[in-house]
Amino acid sequence: MELYSEEGIKYIRKKYGFHNTKSLGQNFLADKGVIDSIIEAASIDPEDLVIEIGPGLGVLTQREAELAKKVYAIELDRDLIPILNDLLKSYDNVEIIHGDILKTDVKALIEGAGCEKTRIVGNLPYYITTPIIMQLLEKKVGAESITIMLQKEVAERITAEPGGRTYGALSVAVQYYAEVVTVAQAPSHMFVPAPKVDSTVLRLDIRKNPAVEVKDEEFFFKVVKAAFGQRRKTLINSISGGGFNKDKVKEVFEKIGMEGNRRAETLSLEEFADLADGLME
Ligand code: SAM
Repeated sequence: MELYSEEGIKYIRKKYGFHNTKSLGQNFLADKGVIDSIIEAASIDPEDLVIEIGPGLGVLTQREAELAKKVYAIELDRDLIPILNDLLKSYDNVEIIHGDILKTDVKALIEGAGCEKTRIVGNLPYYITTPIIMQLLEKKVGAESITIMLQKEVAERITAEPGGRTYGALSVAVQYYAEVVTVAQAPSHMFVPAPKVDSTVLRLDIRKNPAVEVKDEEFFFKVVKAAFGQRRKTLINSISGGGFNKDKVKEVFEKIGMEGNRRAETLSLEEFADLADGLME
C-alpha cells in the first residue's frame, strides 16, 4: 500500500482511528509526482539535517529520512505523534517533535544537530503560512533553503515583481532574504481532503547577504510597511501617513531623485533601500 495514495491515507486513518482536524490545515498530499518534485527541489544530501514542518501522516518524512542524515519533524497534532512514530519506526534518523513550529527554536535545533547543511521542508498548514515563512527568514535560523507547499495566491504574492497588483510587502520581505524558485503547481485534487484552493511549491534559497544593503533592517521594513499600508496613495502621502514627517519625506524624495507621486507597487528592492536609507539620515 502506497502511503501517498488516497487509499493509503484512508487505510492509515482507519487503522489508527485518526480523524482530520480541519482547523489545523490537515490536507494530506496524495500525489506521487508532486511529492517527488518537493523532495527533488529540496536537494537533500546524505550529511544534511531536514526540518519538516507539519509531517501529517509522514509522506514527505519517509522520503526525507531515506536521503538525510537526520530529520526533525515538528507536528502540532498530538494524535499524529504515535501514528508517525509507528509508521516511521524503521528509520532511526527521524525524531518526531510534538510542538508548534511558531514556538519552536529552529535555530537551536539546527545548531544542536551539528549537520553540514539544513533544508527546511513542509506542506504548510495554510492558516499560518506567512508567519511561518517570515519567522524562519527574520530569525536567520541558519538553513540553506526552505521548500514549501503553499496556497497559490500567496506564492504569487511572494514571487511578484514590481509593477503588478500582487507585488507587496510580502514580496519585498521574502525576496530581501531569499532567492525564490517556483518548483511546481499542485491543483487541489492532489490532496486528501481536497482544499478549496490550488497550491504551489516554492523553494526559498536563503541569501548569504540580503538582496540589498540597508543601514537598518528594521527601519527598512518600517518604510516598506508604511509604503504599502496605503498602496493606492502616492508614496509621499503613504509614507507620511505611516508616521514620517511630510516635509522630511519630500526632501528625501528630491535628494534621491525619486518621483514622489509614484505608488509603492512600482518600487524595486533597491529603490526601497535608497528611500529607507534617505529617511534615516
Ligand atoms: N506533510 C503532510 C502532507 O504533506 O501530507 C501534512 C501536511 S498538512 C497540509 C499540514 C500539517 O501541519 C498537518 O499535519 C497539521 O497537523 C500540521 N500543523 C498545523 N499547525 C501546525 C503548527 N503550528 N506547527 C506544526 N505543525 C502544524
